[in-house]
Amino acid sequence: MMREAAFRIKTALGGRSSTDAYREFLAMDALDPEAIAEVSARRSAEHAQFAFGHSPFYRELYSSHGFSADDLRDPAAFSALPIVDKAMLRENFDRIRTDEANDRTSVVSKTGGSTGLPLHLLRDLRFPARALEWRLFEWWGVRPWDDRGIVTRHVLTGAARIRHDLGWLPSRRVQLDAFQITDEAVAEFARSWNRVRPRFLIGYGGGVLDAVRRLQRLGLTLTPPRAVAVTAAPLTAGTRAEIETAFGAPCFDHYRSAEIPWMAGECAHQSGLHVFADVRRVEIVDAADEVVPDGVEGEVVVSDLTNRVFPVIRYRLGDISRLLPGTCACGRGLPRLGAISGRSSDAVRLPDGTTIAGALGHIFDDFPLSIRQFEIVQEADYSVTLRCIPSDRPDAQTGIDAAAEKLRFATKGIVPVTVERVDSIPQVGGKMRFIRSAVPATS
Ligand SMILES: [Zn+2]
Repeated sequence: MMREAAFRIKTALGGRSSTDAYREFLAMDALDPEAIAEVSARRSAEHAQFAFGHSPFYRELYSSHGFSADDLRDPAAFSALPIVDKAMLRENFDRIRTDEANDRTSVVSKTGGSTGLPLHLLRDLRFPARALEWRLFEWWGVRPWDDRGIVTRHVLTGAARIRHDLGWLPSRRVQLDAFQITDEAVAEFARSWNRVRPRFLIGYGGGVLDAVRRLQRLGLTLTPPRAVAVTAAPLTAGTRAEIETAFGAPCFDHYRSAEIPWMAGECAHQSGLHVFADVRRVEIVDAADEVVPDGVEGEVVVSDLTNRVFPVIRYRLGDISRLLPGTCACGRGLPRLGAISGRSSDAVRLPDGTTIAGALGHIFDDFPLSIRQFEIVQEADYSVTLRCIPSDRPDAQTGIDAAAEKLRFATKGIVPVTVERVDSIPQVGGKMRFIRSAVPATS
């Protein structure tokens, strides 16, 4: 029965309507883990074969690593394929695009303006990405047509805004630009929100948190939505609790990137982010690019199994996390990604050459609610400051002391570590980071 369902779903999703795709996604969610793993492995192999046959870049890359088209038929070969990074995508635009790319099937997408060099890639218009969004909303008890509040960048204005709003009628959207959060903008947002009363809020975690604190300071309240969804990790337990208290609604984490939209998200159980394994392959690799077992932390490598105009296969996103062992109480068979614990580029660097990234995202794990938010700031002279906003819970001091001790242990006592209690931690463009270091990366 499950196999039959898996078989029917395994066919490519391209060209189908969003509602058909949405129904198929919900059917996929009901499969057991083995059936989903089988679909994921088969589609991964098929997509790698497609890229080999239709993208000059991938043909050359895989050939140069000793893979023939025949080798790629074996699903086990997938995890041995070379990993690609942002620089490779940026420098090989014309050679990555496949012979299926044309004006009807693809559109150029520009990303990465805020951090690093911009990247151009092609989106496959035949894949109904909107249905993936709906799939996640369904997990949160939100319907696609519900009114929503949005806190991201690229808030539209003028004619573009009117066209956008008309396109979404009858559902209404209340927007706040995460790059331009001021008291005035938040007050205006609150007015619009309380007029529309959206069923849910979706946005960058840092931007939502900034808005929450300003609302509190301004004495403004919002009518509670059914759910709040944040992204642009990392989200600590304390931050989640603060957002949930402010909105009177559960806060769900989800994972997406400019290069590969909608990769994973939490279900109502909030115990890991379910990966859309039928259309996104997520692997965790170690420093030698070898896949690690579930439960072990490493770098996140993602494949978009649906983009046939500009394949993005085994792409290093720069985030650090792990796949969670076991299954979720919700019954969905989709594998789960743990919380993002940092970015490989955001690291504390020691004078002896040691680099510490993901581990520092865990220093508050034993006392998760002792703080509302923290960041680790390293100056050019290597000195490290743990800046934290304590919560009003009785274990606040204990938690901060324990975290500082872990930080001193991780930095081997060779750089000075000081603790600073602060009232606010500035966010940039709505995103949050655990580590900001002024020490340049070597290598
Ligand atoms: Zn679940």
